[in-house]
Amino acid sequence: MSEQYTTKSIGVLTSGGDAPGMNPAVRAVVRTALNHGVEVYAINEGYRGMVEGGAQIRKMSWGSVGGIMHMGGTVIGSARSAEFRTRSGRRLAAKNLVTYGIDRLVIIGGDGSLTGANLFREEWPSLLAELVEQQEISKDLADRHPQLNLVGLVGSIDNDMFGTDMTIGADTALHRITEAIDAINSTAASHQRTFVIEVMGRNCGYLALMSAIATGANWVFIPESPPESDDWEAEMCQALQAGREIGRRNSIVIVAEGAHDRYNKPISSEYVKQVIEQRLGEDTRLTILGHVQRGGSPSAFERYMSTVLGYAAVNELLAAQPGSEPQLIGIREHKVVRSPLMECVAKTQRVAEVIAAQDYETATNMRGGSFTDAFRTLRTLTRAHPRSLPPGQQPLRLMIMHSGGPASGMNTAVRVAVRLGLDKGHTILAAQNGMQGLVNGDVREMNWMSVSDWVGKGGAELGTSRWTPTEADYATIAERLEAYSVDGLLIIGGWSGYQSAYEMLNRRDHLPAFRIPIVCLPASINNNLPGSEHSVGADTALNNIMTDVDKIKQSAVATRRCFVVEVMGRNCGYLALMSGLATGAERVYLPEEGVTLTDLQADVDLLVKGFRGNKRLGLIIRNEKADPLYTTDFVCALFEKEGGNLFDVRKAILGHVQQGGNPSPYDRIQATRLAAKCMEFLIEHTNEATPQVVAIGLQSSQIQFTNIANLSRLTNTKMQRPRRQWWLALRPIAKMMAQHQNDGL
Ligand code: ADP
Repeated sequence: MSEQYTTKSIGVLTSGGDAPGMNPAVRAVVRTALNHGVEVYAINEGYRGMVEGGAQIRKMSWGSVGGIMHMGGTVIGSARSAEFRTRSGRRLAAKNLVTYGIDRLVIIGGDGSLTGANLFREEWPSLLAELVEQQEISKDLADRHPQLNLVGLVGSIDNDMFGTDMTIGADTALHRITEAIDAINSTAASHQRTFVIEVMGRNCGYLALMSAIATGANWVFIPESPPESDDWEAEMCQALQAGREIGRRNSIVIVAEGAHDRYNKPISSEYVKQVIEQRLGEDTRLTILGHVQRGGSPSAFERYMSTVLGYAAVNELLAAQPGSEPQLIGIREHKVVRSPLMECVAKTQRVAEVIAAQDYETATNMRGGSFTDAFRTLRTLTRAHPRSLPPGQQPLRLMIMHSGGPASGMNTAVRVAVRLGLDKGHTILAAQNGMQGLVNGDVREMNWMSVSDWVGKGGAELGTSRWTPTEADYATIAERLEAYSVDGLLIIGGWSGYQSAYEMLNRRDHLPAFRIPIVCLPASINNNLPGSEHSVGADTALNNIMTDVDKIKQSAVATRRCFVVEVMGRNCGYLALMSGLATGAERVYLPEEGVTLTDLQADVDLLVKGFRGNKRLGLIIRNEKADPLYTTDFVCALFEKEGGNLFDVRKAILGHVQQGGNPSPYDRIQATRLAAKCMEFLIEHTNEATPQVVAIGLQSSQIQFTNIANLSRLTNTKMQRPRRQWWLALRPIAKMMAQHQNDGL
């Protein structure tokens, strides 16, 4: 590497449509750069600011990105710039950048912005040559910055870009859509109505598809996969009518803004409304969600993902050789991935071309496995209705129950399991309050409407308990399973269910009633279950914690105060670390690490040093079992004493709010996908001589089944958590973002 590259200045800009999550990304870019000792500039108003220069290019400090993480939109502004599309505009932009010594850029924007950036990079040497020729800049300056290096992060609520599983903004947009449809659902239930809802997505049906799953919508139109039938109007009306006949009071139809039929004729939400009104004679209302979808505070996932991406973008940029191919930094299966920027842009644009060419199969396949999987599940769900098996065929009797503490999304999973089971003609039984209910004979048969409205309901309507059976109870459980002629069992919940399933497997020899397929579906806010990287309920809990901590932080506007927030998680620090990342906590105490006196001393010193400076707010997050002796009370007392007159300390034990609330879109989507697969598994395996006992889970974004007998190998049984926890790798990033706290979180 040549001499001139020893001083590096990075510029960061947000461009194109704004998206929630851009702020945490900018914060991460700025802090990572400063941590490397590199100067970093925010370029306000995207390319427009770059062309204008002057005050639009602002040197950033650690504190200048404090307190922005929870804000929607982008604090550094985003704009569209016609001038940047011209060579003369880009020449001005180059002059402005090089004057500040900026020759490395992090661009956060959509495919348009990234295309523009690449063109700018390609032209850079010739633009500088022109500027030298016109005596706008010195030759020496131009020689010191011969190349422009770029890294792209995708900011787009549509989730429409290749190179990343999620774009910045998409998860939050799903939150907004889901909240809106939940609200509409609650008013619609008072009347017999159909609501047609238009969501964003010109070439990408991600928001439409996922929000349909998350809200239990009854029909959906997406650009990648238009209705197969030429008379789709009749098909849709028939499905809506069938829903009415089984007792549904309100129907929801979701239309992506770019929806069209097989001949590329647009299907507008207005037209869908008219069709329903005319053919079914129903009161039909249209809601176009519009900019609501872009707004609001970023979700917990958004904040942590954008932080990780911003961090990786700077590392990529600093490691890049001058003139090397620009990369797009994305996330895949929790891992940060880099791919050639322009290949990703080309593939993204290719989907639009393929759709225009009416090759819908390729378009859908290009979206990847989980998209097509989700689409298949949704189609099954929207077409499902209670069926009877052909004469002579015996329906299976499948039982569902919960285990462990309540987790949001449990109801979503039960709803899907019940309906898909009934759709196949089987009998679905539910044990109330888990194993204990079964022992007590508290079992009922479920019908189609018994799970109506459960898709977004928090808590656990079937009841759940942490109770674990004793030796004698297993004999009773076996008797009950026999008495109810249970052919397969689905346990949706946490540890106690996994343990019971394992114990049942071990007792098969002498209790033949246990020779049935059993599936455990991970649902626990703690995210501590083996065989899955995510458990249903954890994302909702994380969002609950984040929302509360945001409020706690706001309450401390005027005083010098340190909050110690205790969160749940049992012996798993997932909620503590991830909420720490999402709220900008300066310290998290995890059970995986424990707490030592040396740690506490160092933390006290840091707090004292910070509050002696201009620090006004401290935030510490402690997992409830981080250490048996250095409790939250102890930590608070210690900080209070040592803080003296410098700052005061407040304790916030968030408690059961973490288990409540409507499930987040992510939890609803995962609950739906997993429950659908569980039912397929049970139905498929009932006739086997030794059917398996398994846990379903998400591993590397794929749905996998793990034999329950193998789980002990993967588990730290004493601590009740998986041996390998992927999220522990995020600790250095959390630590880095939280240091230098003297001038703000
Ligand atoms: P998005 O990045 O969200 O796709 P746009 O397509 O509107 O948004 O692009 C944002 C800005 O990026 C434009 O206003 C323009 O300044 C710049 N840009 C987009 N495409 C190009 C291009 N082909 N050449 C130069 N600049 C471009």
